[in-house]
Amino acid sequence: MLNLTKSAAAFAEAKELMPGGVNSPVRSYKSVDCNPPFIDHALGDKIYDIDGNEYIDYVGSWGPMVVGHAHPKVVKALQEAATRGTSYGAPTCIESELAKLVMEVYPSIETIRMVNSGTEATMSALRLARGYTGREKIVKFIGCYHGHSDSLLVNAGSGMATFGVPSSPGVTKGTAQDTISVPYNDEEAITKVMEEVGDEVAAVIVEPVAGNMGLVLPKQGYLRKLRDLTEKHGALLIFDEVMCGFRASLGGAQAAYGITPDLTCLGKIIGGGLPVAAYGGRKDIMAKVSPSGPVYQAGTLSGNPLAMTAGLATLQIITAEPEDGKADYSRELTLKTKKLLLGWQEKAKAAGVAIQVHQAGSMFGIFFSEKDVLNYEDSCNADQEKFKVWFKSMLEQGIYLAPSQFETLFMSGAHTDEDIDRTIAAAEKAFAAVAAMEK
Ligand SMILES: *Cc1c(COP(=O)(O)O)cnc(C)c1O
Repeated sequence: MLNLTKSAAAFAEAKELMPGGVNSPVRSYKSVDCNPPFIDHALGDKIYDIDGNEYIDYVGSWGPMVVGHAHPKVVKALQEAATRGTSYGAPTCIESELAKLVMEVYPSIETIRMVNSGTEATMSALRLARGYTGREKIVKFIGCYHGHSDSLLVNAGSGMATFGVPSSPGVTKGTAQDTISVPYNDEEAITKVMEEVGDEVAAVIVEPVAGNMGLVLPKQGYLRKLRDLTEKHGALLIFDEVMCGFRASLGGAQAAYGITPDLTCLGKIIGGGLPVAAYGGRKDIMAKVSPSGPVYQAGTLSGNPLAMTAGLATLQIITAEPEDGKADYSRELTLKTKKLLLGWQEKAKAAGVAIQVHQAGSMFGIFFSEKDVLNYEDSCNADQEKFKVWFKSMLEQGIYLAPSQFETLFMSGAHTDEDIDRTIAAAEKAFAAVAAMEK
């Protein structure tokens, strides 16, 4: 049995201090009915709680830790940067360095603005889309999460889905009215909306690979359809690649699927574990952002040298030329992920448990479902009781997964073949526990 005595005490104290004891809802483990381990430190592929338990970590701080925790190159760069002061509120060369590197990998981003969170990136991209087009409505997809700004807290997935709150109190009707939500992966639904109100739509915003209703991949041709419809109706297409950027492939979903959006939002990995996100895209659109244009957006700590350093060091590692004969960084992660999922599928089949696994590069997910999961409704229909049993069994065995089927899991460069074998062996027991529920 996992000993979480100290974590339980720490959680009891935290609950007196913060809503639900946490600074972001999913950390509370509410959806799996148990107390969260409180973390002491993390190194490479492992995370350690204050009770002294060690876990193989597939959460990776919800995506950013693509090179593993406390990577020596990132730590060294941060140590050096910290001695030079952590924020000046003035321009620095490292902002341009990170900008150039990101734009090399994302050619659709011709101009970029750094911000501090994915929420800020999507919120600002929408304001820009509205300012640029002079239109007010936006279209989003049910189960896609774009952070917690008001306009986007309508039919959002993930933490919201986990708690079964369709939209949040505090979001005004007026705001919600301008947000149209349609089912993901449904060409007819979006076509109908665009035919009806397309000329009032400033932007269609989408997670091109959806990671906040569990991992759900776009159907063949779906993103192309969104590109064609937005072009036809003069609306902007915004790819929210905060999660799938640098993950679905190095160049994100846009490279993997060959679709060029007008604006892109990045986050998570781009900060290498520090708070960084960005939005960018076509030059003529980005020219509307202040101070070069009238659409206001600012940030005291935006582009601060410590955050830029962590992002730059991380991106340098994952974009480095591979040594002779080796696969590049992203390809390695993809192959490792594939191996893990093949193992899970094999063990599930042997145990007679129906699962669906999805993969996009180094992102992966599991649903306890007989049929494939293509949208939020399918995701909700997957068996969450089974997920809970599976999750708890994996945690007991030292495998740290996201505590909700509505979240995505992540592979890092620090994960070893041995980790993967251990994770497959643990899955065998966890599937047996799930199979036992049915008896
Ligand atoms: C995580 C996430 C966000 C929000 O980013 P924060 O940094 O948590 O504000 C936005 N969009 C997507 C697709 C995300 O996965």
